Amino acid sequence: MKQAVRVAEAQEMVLGCVQPVGVEKVALLEALHRVTAEEVTAQRHIPLDDNSAMDGYAVRHTDVAGATRDRPAVLEVLEILPAGKRPRQRIAPGTAVKIMTGAPLPEGADTVVQVEHTDGSDTRVQIYRAPHLGSNLRRRGEDIRQGECVLAAQTFLRPAELGVLASVGKAQVLVYQRPRVAILATGDEIIDPGEPDTQGKIINSNSYTLAGQVAEAGGSALLLGVAPDDRAIMSQRIASGLRADVLITSGGVSVGSFDYVRECLDAFGCQVRFWTVAVRPGSPATFGMVGHVPVFSLPGNPVASMVTFELFVRPALRKMMGRRDLFRPRLDAVLQDEVEKRRGVRTLLRGVLRQDEGQPTVTTTGPQGSGILRSMSLANCLIDLPEDSEHLQPGTRVQVMPL
Ligand code: AMP
Ligand code: MG
Repeated sequence: MKQAVRVAEAQEMVLGCVQPVGVEKVALLEALHRVTAEEVTAQRHIPLDDNSAMDGYAVRHTDVAGATRDRPAVLEVLEILPAGKRPRQRIAPGTAVKIMTGAPLPEGADTVVQVEHTDGSDTRVQIYRAPHLGSNLRRRGEDIRQGECVLAAQTFLRPAELGVLASVGKAQVLVYQRPRVAILATGDEIIDPGEPDTQGKIINSNSYTLAGQVAEAGGSALLLGVAPDDRAIMSQRIASGLRADVLITSGGVSVGSFDYVRECLDAFGCQVRFWTVAVRPGSPATFGMVGHVPVFSLPGNPVASMVTFELFVRPALRKMMGRRDLFRPRLDAVLQDEVEKRRGVRTLLRGVLRQDEGQPTVTTTGPQGSGILRSMSLANCLIDLPEDSEHLQPGTRVQVMPL
């Protein structure tokens, strides 16, 4: 049996093996939560012209300076200018254009008086209050200047960035491809939800948690169903999984008599990088490369499956889709329970983080067995206890990863 590797080492090995899959041009609506593979430069100023920030009157400031309700300035209205139309008139002394928000500022005007400070007339307007010179204008290029880089390459696209892309006129953007991730469950005892529930069977939950985790990490999941503990059938399914960009197998990597996954992968020439990790839950997690395809063989226990995905697969998928932030942010919290763990083994407990007042606190979700999936669904964080800790008292400061 090989020596167990530490989590951090295992993570480094994985990240050293994976690369972005490729890039593709997608329409803006497809680009949400993807990562840009090009630098985006503005081809035009935004706004393109000086325009009005208010519904009101475009004026010369000198004509309205000193206007009051008792002694209003009176100006001839030359035209009514909706947004999207070019002004036809030039503002001469004693005149104004009734202007809508977003309409280009007519020549000669230097200020917009908002309609609330006027009588609203379409012909001869009374101005009751003068704003400062240059008020209520949006200046040409004040948001984005032509030639400016608006998004660097490797920017994660949130709704705000989609808006920036749209406003510089980009209908399509070059992004990293989503890795296609094949998921193969294994085990003679595993049946899919909805199948007749006979004695001794266990319902497949791992395919679904893993598919959800893949989607959350930005990949697209491909379910390959459940392979029985049979070398020939398992090999067939693994072969089809290896056509994806990443293969995840679930179960069959322990030391049981019917744990054939490693043996099958060997037959495909899998270059195994690690096959036991000093972690709990999830120590039998295995990682290797079959050609260019990273293969993660995760333990069958439902919590171990989720936790090892978090530790090893999620950062890899994020790297593959161009992300730079590969790991979850962490924060310190004060542990509320007493915890025993094994020295030398990194331990991830499922926790409830509370941040209401003062220092964040964290409690475990109760029983922490690696088959107790409820411990994951009750949790909003993982409590990450380092290898060298052993006995933790309530009040200990620990690191947590909000999920
Ligand atoms: P294994 O790693 O194959 O020895 O499986 C360890 C435990 O996890 C066994 O109790 C399995 O029944 C359970 N298990 C394996 N695969 C799954 C799955 N896809 N969904 C839920 N439980 C599973
Ligand atoms: Mg099994």
